[in-house]
Amino acid sequence: MSDSIFSKIIDRKISADIIAETDDLIVIRDINPKAKIHLLIIPKKEIANIPVFSDDDCRYGAKIFKMAKHLSKTIPGADQFQLIMNNGERAGQEVFHAHVHFLAN
Ligand code: 5GP
Repeated sequence: MSDSIFSKIIDRKISADIIAETDDLIVIRDINPKAKIHLLIIPKKEIANIPVFSDDDCRYGAKIFKMAKHLSKTIPGADQFQLIMNNGERAGQEVFHAHVHFLAN
């Protein structure tokens, strides 16, 4: 079942500012930015968060780091950045489709 807001963006059912895309990931600009550059790095596979990742899903960790490196080298002003991932409601997660925030000021 692919019905999260991010799956709808991946499927082009709703629009977003798409910054990068690979077979496994999409990167979009956050609709409510908390920094000058606020991107979301999102696995295309709809998985809620790390606690429910299978061992195989953990490979997204390396793919996300690689994407963060690419973004930092290609986006002006993004050479220094934060990566933040909220896992669970009490940790501030609002969208239950795993994603990592990329923030740079
Ligand atoms: P969370 O709190 O789940 O870690 O972060 C969810 C993020 O998704 C928030 O920063 C929020 O602004 C962003 N967001 C929610 N809905 C949309 C949307 O429809 N489009 C975009 N581009 N970002 C969204």
